[in-house]
Amino acid sequence: MREAVKKFNWPPPGSPVKGVELLVGEGCNARCLFCCSASPRAAGAWRPWREICADLARARSRGAWLASFSGGEAALHPDIFRILRSAAKLGFSFIQIITNGLRFADGEFAAGAAAAGANEIKISLHARDAATHDRTVGVRGAFSKALRAIENCSALGLKVSANFAVTKLNYRQLPAFTKFMAEDLRLTGFCFMFSFYEGRMLGGGKKLRVSYSAALPYLRKALKYMEKEGIRPETKMLSNFTPCLAPEYSNLMSDWGAGEQEKDSPVLQARPGEAAAVARHSSRKKKTQACAACVYRKICYGVDDGYLRSFGESEFKPLAVKPSAFPLRPFYP
Ligand code: SF4
Repeated sequence: MREAVKKFNWPPPGSPVKGVELLVGEGCNARCLFCCSASPRAAGAWRPWREICADLARARSRGAWLASFSGGEAALHPDIFRILRSAAKLGFSFIQIITNGLRFADGEFAAGAAAAGANEIKISLHARDAATHDRTVGVRGAFSKALRAIENCSALGLKVSANFAVTKLNYRQLPAFTKFMAEDLRLTGFCFMFSFYEGRMLGGGKKLRVSYSAALPYLRKALKYMEKEGIRPETKMLSNFTPCLAPEYSNLMSDWGAGEQEKDSPVLQARPGEAAAVARHSSRKKKTQACAACVYRKICYGVDDGYLRSFGESEFKPLAVKPSAFPLRPFYP
């Protein structure tokens, strides 16, 4: 991480993240079982380059230094290189594409993205074996393509990290996956995202549902491994978790509350009046009965409503005090 900070002139570790996440469109070439979109489209519905540039310029004028592009599959946007060049021209130092990696398996495409200004590629990798990953994303051969994408991007000197969506198919792999990332792929940047119970998760993804209680022992084991090996998280790496589930790791959780978190909100609003990613998360969440007695009751958004409908409220116990010590601290808090 320190090498990337120096190489790409990112703000020093410890700087609060000021970034904008732009959804460039809905087209996608995968069929992830956990996708929050009920029917991702194979093509189309791309936001025009001009509109994206206007959002980038607005965020930049408000001090954003990180531009993150997601979709659908951002790499499929017909003007993706032009968009990356515009972000670089506007002065964003940290330019990230969130991708399923399928396009980056093509070395020429990866080189084009690097030349256009991308410096971090965040690739979805949901298992350490091909069968589980391919099944999760609904594309045969996706795992080997994701590994090739990692190889291509690493060879180009890009920073590479991974997103792992926690589901029933893979939650037991969390410790082994973390080890695989660090020891086999030599990558130390990853995010564990607990899937929201919406979109495809409500239909064919039903078999993917897992409770927090089942997943937490494996998550703790993975984080303990990081602690033992001195692997420092790069950013807040836990998405869609609540502090009461694992208070000692609440400093690694994104998108759980306003107020205290708002001061260093990881995502700026793309447009005036438009909900930021953090706010989008808040709209899916609901307070439980326990929340009324919790120390975070004023700032926590609560729990994914869809999750509560599947598993109920019993796992969420109010916190009497805020945690004061954290075993892992991210480079960018
Ligand atoms: S407010 Fe509710 S969901 Fe949030 S940490 Fe407290 S008990 Fe958990």
